[in-house]
Amino acid sequence: MIPFLDLKPINAQYRQELIDAATRVIDSGWYILGQEVKAFEAEFARSCGAVHAVGISNGLDALTLILRAYKELGVLAEGDAVVVPANTYIATILSITENRIEPVLVEPDLGTYNLDPDLIEAALTPRTRAIMVVHLYGQAAAMTEIRAIASRRGLKVIEDCAQAHGAMLDGRVVGTLGDAAGYSFYPGKNLGALGDAGAVLTADPALAETVRALRNYGSHVKYQNRYQGPNNRLDEMQAALLRVKLEHLADENARRRAIARRYLDQIRNPAVILPVVARGDESHVWHLFVVRTRDRDGFQKHLLERGVQTVVHYPIPPHRQEAYRAWNGRSYPITEKIHREVLSLPMSPVMTADQVDAVIAAVNEYRGA
Ligand SMILES: *Cc1c(COP(=O)(O)O)cnc(C)c1O
Repeated sequence: MIPFLDLKPINAQYRQELIDAATRVIDSGWYILGQEVKAFEAEFARSCGAVHAVGISNGLDALTLILRAYKELGVLAEGDAVVVPANTYIATILSITENRIEPVLVEPDLGTYNLDPDLIEAALTPRTRAIMVVHLYGQAAAMTEIRAIASRRGLKVIEDCAQAHGAMLDGRVVGTLGDAAGYSFYPGKNLGALGDAGAVLTADPALAETVRALRNYGSHVKYQNRYQGPNNRLDEMQAALLRVKLEHLADENARRRAIARRYLDQIRNPAVILPVVARGDESHVWHLFVVRTRDRDGFQKHLLERGVQTVVHYPIPPHRQEAYRAWNGRSYPITEKIHREVLSLPMSPVMTADQVDAVIAAVNEYRGA
């Protein structure tokens, strides 16, 4: 069986380095907000070309704290609206509703699965204060067009970079293309911790300082609290492990690109729609290799019978979730089509050439319904 994604061999590549990092933390006697978090923040910021990085407990909390910090700073208020792609992973939407801000769902482009900039303007209301962009599946969104709309309308641009570590547009890494960015280091992401972890990037010193306080009970100075903040800290152990993984991110992304290149060149099946790279090789880091077919479930069954495990990202769109019952009657045809048809092929930096060959052969053997 070719697994969709197996984390064990990925982390086994760095087994000794990870053990050394964990040992350093164990022996330090300091487990929360110490040297490892500080060093990871500096190294992650440098690797992205960002000014400030703030380590956070996970990706959802990173996005939630960006919006919360903008509220504390008077940029956003409860009842405001934020534009967000209708086909994103649910966490993007949760970060908005958690802050009692209204998500305005906008349909994606069917080629790239990213926010369609041509549809944004029509969705804006006087209450819209920001656009939350998602670089879905690892591909940088149309940031030049989106930033132009935002600056014309005086909107903040927040990037959800949870799937796109290292993706670049015009020589700049995602997370530095808007006003603030949330990253996730969930174990299965391109830069994965060995537990939950996340970060906020921004060039805005006031925002960075506010997020830094908010992640730690709303405290800038020990035992002084400016805000009623949560505990959303990144811990020393995950930071130390992430420092190891960060060293290898560029190499792992290169290996993902090589696999994607082979899929794109060698999958030849009129029943299978391949992903579109709209803005050059550097703009996609292939967190997922997502194809579409009319009979997705039949296609998935065919691949499984040939020993190829696949996953659907995602089966139910946010507006059809029970958590958002009030939106269940709405219609987003492009988003619904995507959720009906997408299937993610195996993609991992440790896939062998033989495994890639076997996936390609199994896909090419499929006779569409
Ligand atoms: C994974 C993910 C998140 C949430 O990150 P967690 O660390 O799992 O909380 C947010 N947005 C997107 C697009 C994601 O893929």
